[in-house]
Amino acid sequence: MSVRVLCVAAAVACLLSSCAGRSQTESGSLATSFAPAKGISSPKKAEADSPVALTPVAWGRFNNPGSLSGRTLTASSLSDLKLANKEVVLTFDDGPMPKKTETILSILDEYHVKATFLMVGQMAKAHPEIARKVVNAGHTIGSHTYRHADLQHLSFDAAVAEIEKGRDAVTSVTHKDAGFFRFPYLADTSRLRQWIASNGMVVLDVQIDSKDYFGVSPAAVATRTMNSLRAHGKGIILLHDIHARTAAMLPALLTQLSAEGYKVVRLRYSNSSMMMAWLN
Ligand SMILES: [Zn+2]
Repeated sequence: MSVRVLCVAAAVACLLSSCAGRSQTESGSLATSFAPAKGISSPKKAEADSPVALTPVAWGRFNNPGSLSGRTLTASSLSDLKLANKEVVLTFDDGPMPKKTETILSILDEYHVKATFLMVGQMAKAHPEIARKVVNAGHTIGSHTYRHADLQHLSFDAAVAEIEKGRDAVTSVTHKDAGFFRFPYLADTSRLRQWIASNGMVVLDVQIDSKDYFGVSPAAVATRTMNSLRAHGKGIILLHDIHARTAAMLPALLTQLSAEGYKVVRLRYSNSSMMMAWLN
């Protein structure tokens, strides 16, 4: 057995053992931290413990920086979000969170890729310096309501107020227009989607849910994400920058994406209505 194989095996064993028994309640200190929506049950133990389906290269060193970075896709409406086969968008919800968001920023930098961070307004207010680090590193931002409310259970007016307050908070902290939006718990309504579109925001839906909010090993999260992606061929990937397991599995996920020829597309928000007003 070669030294390289031994090293990889040791790294996997170390990673798995260091995360064994981590609580499912691992999350931030604020009330906004993600909790699985009702109706989502925890995966069966057998699934969580299933063998790692990633190739060994995913757990080794990434030695081809730059190969993963794809095009920039500018979007001013939902219809602009069209991905080609083998294209993915990385999205991180619920932060910013000290240490975890910063660790994820370092990893994304190492792999030369840009992601979109859908920040909870309350979290951005609590950690403004980290929110600005995200922007300064060249990533895209969006909002995720002010306090991570389930908008399906609010009146229309209260839901709109939550969305506006969240966007205003993220924008005021980062000095960037947080044009993208994601529904907490992915709990949308058609009326709210219409309101968002008519107010110049772009909803980011999810095709690949990593389910990194369940208390499973980093390897299980990476495996589930890759399996879902292989079935879809492309898509927007939902991750969270408030969990240690997400940061722990991210290098393996990115290395595997590269090995399978995927490209990470960078999103850019364009407010077309403001541009039209300026041109006129
Ligand atoms: Zn969320």
